[in-house]
Amino acid sequence: MSMDGVDTADRGMGRIRDALSPRRWNLAEQRRRFIVYCLLIESVAVAGTVTAAITVPTRTRDIVVFLALAGLGVLQAELGRQVERVRRLVSDTPHINLTSVWTFAGVLLLPPALVTALIVILYLHLATRSLYRIKKVPPFRVVFNASLVIVTCHATQFVMARTGIPTLYAALGDVWPGVGVIVLAAAVYFLVGAVTVLPGLKITTRSFAALFGGWGDNVLEVSTLCLGVLTALALGTLPALVVVVLPPLLLLHRVVLVKQLEDAVVTDEKTGLFNTTGWHKLATRELARAQRRPKASFGVLMVDLDLFKRINDTYGHLAGDAVLRAVAGAIRGEVRDYDSVGRFGGEEFLVLLPDVPERGARAVAERVRAAITRLEVSVDVSGQPDVITGLSASIGVATYPHAGTALDRILDAADSAMYQAKAAGRNRVVSVTDA
Ligand code: GH3
Ligand code: MG
Ligand code: MG
Repeated sequence: MSMDGVDTADRGMGRIRDALSPRRWNLAEQRRRFIVYCLLIESVAVAGTVTAAITVPTRTRDIVVFLALAGLGVLQAELGRQVERVRRLVSDTPHINLTSVWTFAGVLLLPPALVTALIVILYLHLATRSLYRIKKVPPFRVVFNASLVIVTCHATQFVMARTGIPTLYAALGDVWPGVGVIVLAAAVYFLVGAVTVLPGLKITTRSFAALFGGWGDNVLEVSTLCLGVLTALALGTLPALVVVVLPPLLLLHRVVLVKQLEDAVVTDEKTGLFNTTGWHKLATRELARAQRRPKASFGVLMVDLDLFKRINDTYGHLAGDAVLRAVAGAIRGEVRDYDSVGRFGGEEFLVLLPDVPERGARAVAERVRAAITRLEVSVDVSGQPDVITGLSASIGVATYPHAGTALDRILDAADSAMYQAKAAGRNRVVSVTDA
């Protein structure tokens, strides 16, 4: 082994030891309600598994299917490592994974205790492999996520057992009801999975999309379940054919990456708002829409934080970033879901308000200004907790078509209105019509 190899292997082991040490099981630092929910889900998963292990018999065929699914799952994760590495770099949603292909196939074919064993193996493999070079997921999250999947699988198997067609083998002998039960199982798996994950998420908006994920996420989930059915069908009939599932699955993984890259191109990483490119795209579209309709109007707000440099100088750049995120949240909280908020680099934000006339835009600007003054941002300044208050912003308002009929003109107008607000003493709103 080369020196380099020794070094890498050593570091790998070090990371695994580090992850297994109780210090990193920082579950106790999480929010209390979340801790209770974690322990609840984990207890249900353990109780379900133990009960099933005692009451449901395991046959040789089950062991063979179990080994095939575990092997395929590990193989798929290994083949997809490169894609996964890039995916985790561009996105903070590592919980999207394609293991449901194997776990759902397990639901259709295996006794519950073996389904648990399959999930443990797949998640353990993902977790230990992700410690190495790929962005980390904290261990308590891995245990929680695995438990959620176990509970989802057992709930689905419980419903299937009630129908009298508990497995895919039974469905093969009873064709049309069998098809119905498998569709039902997919629906139960999807719903239980979506609902049980909710209490663990930090939900800041009440929109339906935030609760159930975007359209893309759901199409992805449905696709993995479809591949799960095909996997189970192959294993239940012509087992060697199961390998045909791998290529489409690897392709699906890449599709997920492409979608995340598309999002990343228009997103400001620091705040999750649109970046300049994203905001410009939407504003250009809104302008074109307005130009097609007589009497259309829309508003643009240019928001610049007051004396922000002082925050950085006093509390440090990281605290400054926390303030930027808080301001982003405050602006989002004062506008409608379909208004577009972007960060134009630095501490300048732009808001696009479709179908809003001058007076409306000014009212929104006033609300945003007030919300920023009410902010209390908890920060950590070299280990010491602190709270930043007394923030304010100067806001320039410009509206189409009054301020101009080209986007550059409107932005220029909003910009100079913002500078007038600064000149007039900051913490105020100036509209182009005031000039
Ligand atoms: P005013 O606008 O009221 O005239 O004063 P200001 O202090 O806000 O002035 P200016 O707009 O010139 O300063 C912007 C400062 O924002 C300068 C820079 O250090 C800081 N800044 C820019 N981008 C970031 C960022 O991404 N994170 C942090 N923490 N600071 C940033
Ligand atoms: Mg400023
Ligand atoms: Mg500025």
